[in-house]
Amino acid sequence: MTDNKIERHDCDVLIAGAGPVGQVLALLLAQQGLLVSVVERWEQPYPLPRAVAISHDVLRVVRQLGLGEELAPLLEPWGQDGQRFTLQDASGQTLTESSFILDSESGFPNMSGFSQPDLEQLLERRVHSDPLIVQYRGFSLEALSDDGSGVSATIRPHTGLAPIPDRQPRVVRAAFAVGCDGANSTVRSLLGVEVTDLGFNRDWLVVDVIPHSPPTWLPYACQHLDPARSTTLVPAGPGRRRWEFMIMPSDDQERVDTEENAWRLLKRWEIHPGNAELVRRARYTFRGRWANQWRQGRVVLAGDAAHQMPPFMGQGFNSGIRDAANLAWRLALLVDGKGRESLLDDYAAERCTQVAQIVEQTVLIGQMFCMTDPEECAQRDAGLTSLANLNIQEASQNWLLRGGTLQDDGIGGNLGLQATVGTKTRTALLDEIIAPPSFVLLGRDSDPVDRLSTPMREAWERLGGNSAHFGPGGLTDTEGKFAQWFEQLNASVVLIRPDFQVFGGVLDEQTTDGLVRDLVERVFAHSPGAPTSRGSESSVPRFSGSANYRP
Ligand SMILES: Cc1cc2nc3c(=O)[nH]c(=O)nc-3n(C[C@H](O)[C@H](O)[C@H](O)COP(=O)(O)OP(=O)(O)OC[C@H]3O[C@@H](n4cnc5c(N)ncnc54)[C@H](O)[C@@H]3O)c2cc1C
Repeated sequence: MTDNKIERHDCDVLIAGAGPVGQVLALLLAQQGLLVSVVERWEQPYPLPRAVAISHDVLRVVRQLGLGEELAPLLEPWGQDGQRFTLQDASGQTLTESSFILDSESGFPNMSGFSQPDLEQLLERRVHSDPLIVQYRGFSLEALSDDGSGVSATIRPHTGLAPIPDRQPRVVRAAFAVGCDGANSTVRSLLGVEVTDLGFNRDWLVVDVIPHSPPTWLPYACQHLDPARSTTLVPAGPGRRRWEFMIMPSDDQERVDTEENAWRLLKRWEIHPGNAELVRRARYTFRGRWANQWRQGRVVLAGDAAHQMPPFMGQGFNSGIRDAANLAWRLALLVDGKGRESLLDDYAAERCTQVAQIVEQTVLIGQMFCMTDPEECAQRDAGLTSLANLNIQEASQNWLLRGGTLQDDGIGGNLGLQATVGTKTRTALLDEIIAPPSFVLLGRDSDPVDRLSTPMREAWERLGGNSAHFGPGGLTDTEGKFAQWFEQLNASVVLIRPDFQVFGGVLDEQTTDGLVRDLVERVFAHSPGAPTSRGSESSVPRFSGSANYRP
């Protein structure tokens, strides 16, 4: 970052919303040396439980912020004692069930339970102590204007908060702005972005409980498919349980979201004030929708501002953190003046394509879980019974990224593998050896950087790229997982992005130069020494996006 940039803008990136997505994005950007401003309506992080499941790949992103040690006690890996997810009928009979997978491509359990406020507090402490991040808590973002060379955000003290002398309306100027401002996103409205809505709108009552002692009589995780009231039961982080009760038309709508009603519904599960504490109840509308445009000029959407989905697959929060990881390295390149403008369109293409698949799958599951017609339910139950085993994690194998800053070679778009590796002095997870996250060339048998021509080697260095390899003089594949992975991908060199997504790979090591050249041409505004087939652009991007997004 040059002084010149600081002069022109108050910060490099302005983030609207300090939910988990805004906070993780702020930390990822600061980790790369960017100046960040975060504008948040409320003075404190949202205190009530929401998401309860964190995916392995998302855990990898959060851990890269150096939060591993503090995070570990907040997590409960799903299935660590062989527990299963059960689908049961109205009488409690098991229709089918699935085990949880403890292993994953990221070196962590596939899913872990957590309580969102615990994570948000942890992120808040980290954000608070980061000298590169300025938080404007108690401020609402009200207007944005993009003049092609930067974004000006008008922020005002949030209505209803006690007046504080230095909390005055102001304009914050940034090179880029990101709307991480949740489902009712102001930024999305200011941009005038429409949403694709799958028409799934169901109200459920979400209830979180801390049992006084482990409720051994309860299933660990189950969907109780009672036509009279479908109910979800899942672990919600260490010592916590979550129930989600479908709200029926016959319910007294005035009284449905009351403590009395929550206890009444929990009674069927033998949970009562004598053996548990009620932590939270909330009426929540499950929706399936995504924004049709994720980027306009210098303004981008991420997290719930860009997509919302029912919680049946536990992917809302997780998709938001994937957005943040996908976006952070692009913004870093753009702020640095190196990146191509198209990087943000690629972000939108990659993330929206994957999210749309997840929302569609989750809505299909939601439709199955929300059936109330007894005949349809009987047919559904018969179908489920005939399944030998349900593999609830199988679907995620298809959630590859597509389009965007990826090679279309069957290798690009996969999630980069992480497992333990050995060095001369220690055995550790790959990310602990290659830290902080960067572009990585990973070779099966030899150092891929040795294959690079001088211009590509220089470009790789400019990108801050790292390399590692297995075999003589390199890492040891202690679990044998990397050998298997290279085999499966039919590659001997893979190029992994800082968000742990594979850009592409080659089987013939001699063609590594072409792999790097392709990346360089896709990400750099100017690729030094490399002939560019994609045209040239100014190194300081001037976007053509519409200006003055005022309501
Ligand atoms: C009951 C419930 C259960 C859920 N269960 C799961 C689950 O099991 N798994 C899962 O993955 N997800 C789950 N989710 C979804 C998950 O909580 C969200 O996906 C996640 O919080 C999204 O994070 P975010 O940072 O994008 O948005 P949010 O957490 O909503 O944060 C947005 C922030 O922006 C602020 N803001 C809004 N407008 C402005 C403005 N104009 N100016 C300044 N600040 C503004 C808000 O105050 C808020 O702090 C659940 C959600 C709910 C409500």
